[in-house]
Amino acid sequence: MARTVLVTGGNRGIGLAIAQAFAKQGDRVAVTHRGSGVPGDLFGVECDITDAAAVDAAFGAIEAELGPVEVLVANAGITDDTLLLRMSEEQFTRVVDTNLTGAYRLAKRAAGKMLRARWGRMIFISSVVGLYGSPGQVNYAASKAGLVGVARSITRELGSRNITANVVAPGYVETDMTAALPEDRKAEYQKMIPAGRFAAPEEIAGAVTWLASDAAGYISGAVIPVDGGLGMGH
Ligand code: NDP
Repeated sequence: MARTVLVTGGNRGIGLAIAQAFAKQGDRVAVTHRGSGVPGDLFGVECDITDAAAVDAAFGAIEAELGPVEVLVANAGITDDTLLLRMSEEQFTRVVDTNLTGAYRLAKRAAGKMLRARWGRMIFISSVVGLYGSPGQVNYAASKAGLVGVARSITRELGSRNITANVVAPGYVETDMTAALPEDRKAEYQKMIPAGRFAAPEEIAGAVTWLASDAAGYISGAVIPVDGGLGMGH
């Protein structure tokens, strides 16, 4: 059955691969962007997830065009790396405000309609570093670890209404975010990954569409690693 899906940050990178995977299986897909527009036939809404009013307006536009959001993929995220002693409070709070508080804003706005429909899927894109840790990423890792608490608490609050909330924790993925890494650092990371390579964005999308499918209806509060074995045991 076709669903209405919202993928934040679906204009590029992992979000775009996720949006295209849902569109390919016949779902109605909306993606957010911040002024860049969106590729292909996806329904684009301009939205900065640090602004609760903009999130509300984006949901309103999607509801008018495609119907209530049934599958929420909270994917939009940023990094702002530096070592703890150099990290300003602004750098910490900006990353948390986008990656963690942004996800809360989206989930809260989506939950009302999901409750009414007695069906919903929330999928939060975290990162292997949320539970593994990463030097230079105190802000980012904290925001990504926080998503586990968000998904598990939503599971306990809304699980009886056929609403699931899960976390996907990718390892290193070939996108603009990792393109910024120096080549020697990339080579170092690749040595640590049992798969010996970074992931393609499509390899993250497969786990996300599966979590939204009927086959995964009894999975909630889970953290699904898609990391080539990097984070085993974390
Ligand atoms: P990119 O840097 O390629 O894209 C980030 C996306 O997030 C863009 O669409 C961007 O929009 C959007 N975004 C950022 N801030 C906001 C905001 N305030 N409001 C709305 N949209 C925003 O990232 P990736 O595709 O690599 O990453 C996607 C997700 O996956 C992120 O949450 C990231 O943390 C996570 N992840 C990525 C990994 C990787 O190796 N690449 C590994 C593990 C997790 P715009 O185009 O307007 O800037």
